[in-house]
Amino acid sequence: MPADSLETIANLSKRRGFVFPASEIYGGLRSSWDYGPLGAELLRNIREAWWGAMVRERDDVVGLDSSIIQSRQVWAASGHEASFTDPLVECTNCHHRYRVDKLDDPDQCPSCGKRGTFTEPRDFNLLLKTFLGPVEEDAAVAYLRPETAQGIFINYENVRRSSRLRLPFGIAQIGKSFRNEITPGQFVFRTREFEQMEMEYFCRPEEADQWYDHWLDARMQWYLNLGMHPDRVRLRAHEPDELAHYALVTSDVEYDFPWGWDELEGIANRTDFDLRAHSDASGEDLRYYDQEADERFYPFVIEPAAGVTRSAFAFLIDAYEEEEVKGETRVVLKLHPKLAPIKVAVLPLSKKDDLVGVTDEVAKALRPHWAIEVDVTQSIGRRYRRQDEIGTPYCVTIDFDTLDDQAVTVRDRDTMAQDRVSIEGLVPHLRDKFGTLL
Ligand code: ATP
Repeated sequence: MPADSLETIANLSKRRGFVFPASEIYGGLRSSWDYGPLGAELLRNIREAWWGAMVRERDDVVGLDSSIIQSRQVWAASGHEASFTDPLVECTNCHHRYRVDKLDDPDQCPSCGKRGTFTEPRDFNLLLKTFLGPVEEDAAVAYLRPETAQGIFINYENVRRSSRLRLPFGIAQIGKSFRNEITPGQFVFRTREFEQMEMEYFCRPEEADQWYDHWLDARMQWYLNLGMHPDRVRLRAHEPDELAHYALVTSDVEYDFPWGWDELEGIANRTDFDLRAHSDASGEDLRYYDQEADERFYPFVIEPAAGVTRSAFAFLIDAYEEEEVKGETRVVLKLHPKLAPIKVAVLPLSKKDDLVGVTDEVAKALRPHWAIEVDVTQSIGRRYRRQDEIGTPYCVTIDFDTLDDQAVTVRDRDTMAQDRVSIEGLVPHLRDKFGTLL
């Protein structure tokens, strides 16, 4: 069973060093989280898996790394300054504020329980505002980007020209985004600072439907390839009243979170909304010139927009299992090896001097190939438990026989089967075990 409660994952995350509450020594900040040593590795692995599938393994997508802070005009042209809003209500009894479209019962305050106490909804703008330079005046206003996508649109022509791209092609970017969410919460699901993985795929307008279908399939497959349970991830098309201001159609990849189905990723047909808007506002002609047909037109854009931090949360929930082993409960994170923060743990049975040399030798042999952890503390049982809980696919145990037979025991996380393998053959053995999974 995947983890059925958010607390289970939050507790494990804190205990083992995946995610800590931000500013914890000052009482915490509800909307921010810090990623510990294992969380940092997990995030990196998710980014790598996405970049691999979206950029490196394709010949029609290139990468970009644009600034978080751009000219204010970008957000005026994109429509975010005027329309990037959520409907906010305030309870006139307890003064708690909520996003009305996310309330189970839009007539009852979840905080004080009173009914009929909400104000009329008003549009609350989610842009996080700051001031550039030493003056806090209107002329110095800047926004922290609420999506990475606009950095791609405003660089569309730079990238197209410098990389000599022809339609269809995509530009991908991973980075932090910021939204002044009315109600952050559910652990790292909704935070004010988060990380996105977005790709804008530019194509001929008449091919947009076909590419939309392509990206729906490709993006679903990405989660499944990384081991997500097929019955806990699905595609759901937006109702017309759910669509963002720029979208013609949108489908969400949804995950069955402990509170129900919720968004992991949005895949939208943004039409030519953004390129047209930036052309109009900047005066730069961002139309595509088709030499053969001698025609200029605005490409349409299909955008798969995913969250790094939100995916990390879903992968943790999905991988979590509790099993009965010899009358005891074993907690194991069955993370895909690509995502596992530590690939191989090296565990000498004793920390006595005799095993130090051979432990170093094994660690040295493995380190160039995989992220490893050498753990010498506590009983071997406890160390296995720790490695299971952090999702380490293989443990290599060094015992006193190792000194005689130059062999170690390799324990498989999922089956708990143990193989005796020579130190010399350890790297090929593990490489074989990982197979094509890494
Ligand atoms: P919602 O309606 O839930 O506020 P959205 O539909 O506006 O979200 P998108 O703009 O489609 O979200 O963002 C694309 C992806 O970025 C989301 O699917 C999610 O993975 C991630 N994301 C968006 N907002 C947040 C947030 N506040 N915290 C964490 N991840 C987020």
